[in-house]
Amino acid sequence: MSIAGTINKIKSQLPKEVTLVAVSKTKPNEAILEAYNNGQLVFGENKVQELVQKYEGLPKDIEWHLIGHLQSNKVKYIAPFVQLIHAVDSFKLLLEINKQGKKNNRIINCLLQVKIAKEESKFGLDFDEAEFIFNEAKNLRSLHIIGFMGMATFTNDQKQLKEEFTALSDFFIEQQAVNPQLSVLSMGMSGDYPLAIEHGSNMIRVGSTIFGERNYN
Ligand SMILES: *Cc1c(COP(=O)(O)O)cnc(C)c1O
Repeated sequence: MSIAGTINKIKSQLPKEVTLVAVSKTKPNEAILEAYNNGQLVFGENKVQELVQKYEGLPKDIEWHLIGHLQSNKVKYIAPFVQLIHAVDSFKLLLEINKQGKKNNRIINCLLQVKIAKEESKFGLDFDEAEFIFNEAKNLRSLHIIGFMGMATFTNDQKQLKEEFTALSDFFIEQQAVNPQLSVLSMGMSGDYPLAIEHGSNMIRVGSTIFGERNYN
């Protein structure tokens, strides 16, 4: 199916509160434009350099999300335009985002990445750390933490996926009860987004289903 056709099909099945982030990493501008011309405005990239290049070459009303790991020394390149940073996993990184937000006269929206996968993963915060950092960050004026992001284990085990999504969703609901500004729960990719939505996600990051398998060569 075409890119536009696939996006239409996915969107027709999404509850209206769920935002689709089209993950365009490794894909050319033409593919992004096909989606854009079909009304898709939200795109996700996982590398800073690629994100900046695409931002520069594509229409300015695209909302760019950085979904991958971010190093503090690269925040400055995306701070002028990024709409949402999904994978914040340290207070040090928040301090840098706040600094660059201030420099650019912007308030930068962020999600804290919480570790939910059972498999060893390098990135992400424990629930306790996420709560601590979230509260610490309330004094930072040039950023808003608007929610949480999680990546489930790469598995077909539906029971395990359900447990992982539910754990983060429960945490989100608990935090939201005392912090109503929390609005985004980013969970779900090509292989697992229907289940993620069933278990509370309201932002899905879908790449290969829309754009086809990625070729890293
Ligand atoms: C690549 C990527 C996705 C999309 O993965 P697909 O399986 O192609 O949908 C989602 N989230 C993150 C953080 C990614 O790096």
